Amino acid sequence: MSDELFWADQIASSIINRKKFFYTDDKIKQPKEYTVKTSASLSGVLHIGRLSDTIRSESVYRALKDAGKKARLIWVAEDMDPFRKVPKGVPASYKKYLGMPVTDIPDPEGCHKSYADHHREEYLKVIHDFVSTKMKVYSTREEYLKGTFKPFIKKIVKQTELTRDIQNKFRKEKQLDWSPWRPICDKCGKLSTTKLTDVQDGLFHYVCQDYKFETTTATGCGHKGISDPMKGNGKLMWKSEWAAEWAMWNVVAEGAGKEYQVPGSAFWINGEIAEKVLKFPQPEPIFYEHLMIDNEKMSASLGNVIYPKDWIQVAPPEMLRMFYNKKIMKTRSFSWQDLPRMYDEFDDMARIQTGEKKLDNKKEIAHHKRLFAVTALDKPRVPLKMSFSHAMMVAQVFKKEKDIINVLEKTNHWKKEKKKEILERIKYAQKYLDTYVPDNQKFSVQEELPPNLQLEDKQKEALHRIADALHKESFNEESLYAEFFNICKDMELSPKELFQAGYKVLLNRERGPKLATLVISIGTEKVSKLFKTI
Ligand SMILES: [Zn+2]
Ligand SMILES: [Zn+2]
Repeated sequence: MSDELFWADQIASSIINRKKFFYTDDKIKQPKEYTVKTSASLSGVLHIGRLSDTIRSESVYRALKDAGKKARLIWVAEDMDPFRKVPKGVPASYKKYLGMPVTDIPDPEGCHKSYADHHREEYLKVIHDFVSTKMKVYSTREEYLKGTFKPFIKKIVKQTELTRDIQNKFRKEKQLDWSPWRPICDKCGKLSTTKLTDVQDGLFHYVCQDYKFETTTATGCGHKGISDPMKGNGKLMWKSEWAAEWAMWNVVAEGAGKEYQVPGSAFWINGEIAEKVLKFPQPEPIFYEHLMIDNEKMSASLGNVIYPKDWIQVAPPEMLRMFYNKKIMKTRSFSWQDLPRMYDEFDDMARIQTGEKKLDNKKEIAHHKRLFAVTALDKPRVPLKMSFSHAMMVAQVFKKEKDIINVLEKTNHWKKEKKKEILERIKYAQKYLDTYVPDNQKFSVQEELPPNLQLEDKQKEALHRIADALHKESFNEESLYAEFFNICKDMELSPKELFQAGYKVLLNRERGPKLATLVISIGTEKVSKLFKTI
């Protein structure tokens, strides 16, 4: 166990310090350049959960670089996946493409060369908002066609028996006829429909027949053909392909969901195949928990899918990076109502970074600093004095930029150099209020006394005293807060009763933001006048 504090540094350190293979006694030669791989299959919607693989892999890449190693981050489109069902919004005629690799299907929107290209571009556009590293982009389909996989296919095909035995160790029902190559039909171009009938001298004989997915069927064309894997028109089966990818790109680490952590998963099987068949050391896994929304899996049918574009309307990308870069194996559930707390955490980390916030535990400080450095996308993030909750309050009272700046100046939350960040946070807060905060948790400032106002005599008296004080003296938040307590003490009134009275008059509600801040934000003259009319 290394003494690194941050999980990505721990993984980097195990990569750098490992000496031998897992499954054999072969020695590991340290590479000249360390490659971390992140990938996506292009089927399915790109929600924020899918960004986790890239964000977390990038952290390991950064950790390797920070440890002084030459490193690169590659993004692979696993685009040899067959088209399994026609998604909403795609013409029904696309049914004829079921079973074909997504790279070979036309772009339904017509703006790209293929269905896969369209989705790949969409992915990368979004991913670059959340990851600042320049990634080398690959497509598995292109690599097969270019012939890059050839040497690895050759080794795997030649050692089919060994490859099969490694897999069968974990299977209840042994697959004795398992074969590593899946051809694409020469005639109809489909991948899922080719059934092997014979393998001879490295050539794969097949017949093209119907293939059933979960809810759909890919129709075969009946063609009988022979596929030569050295020509690249087909793919390796997944339990051997992953190993070939690692060996081909020299991968030292790759992310995978925690379901791959169990013994016998595709990760370990490919690891063993990589080592025994391809003589390449199994990469270090970056296992992580999947993102849950309000403790449920994200799914279109539940309607709880969060898209990256939703995120950047209410928070900077760095905050999602922080979320993913904290402990990697703790179940992560996200709720929109957590967002203000998450902002506070982010601000706190920025304050620890600048030394504005002190912690006793040195290890904790070091961990926070490291987490922040990896999270902050190399941008100098200076902590703001204005919390997100405060921004929400301001956004509810004022709409005009001039008024917003004016009140932030009065409450000492304004800094001219941070104009951009402050106004951006107000904008995020406004959008958050409009989109995710239920009406009964919002407020609006009352211009006159609410019609059904009910207050005890003592409460009225206290508000009159406040009105007088506001008229006579000028206050800041602290001194006004102190004044409230003086009045309470003097009148033997509980602070709670006083605050409630204030909220009832100013907001027509029982609760609200800090009363002193609210009064100063609304304007002491205005509040004083209103309190006097009670
Ligand atoms: Zn397109
Ligand atoms: Zn066919």
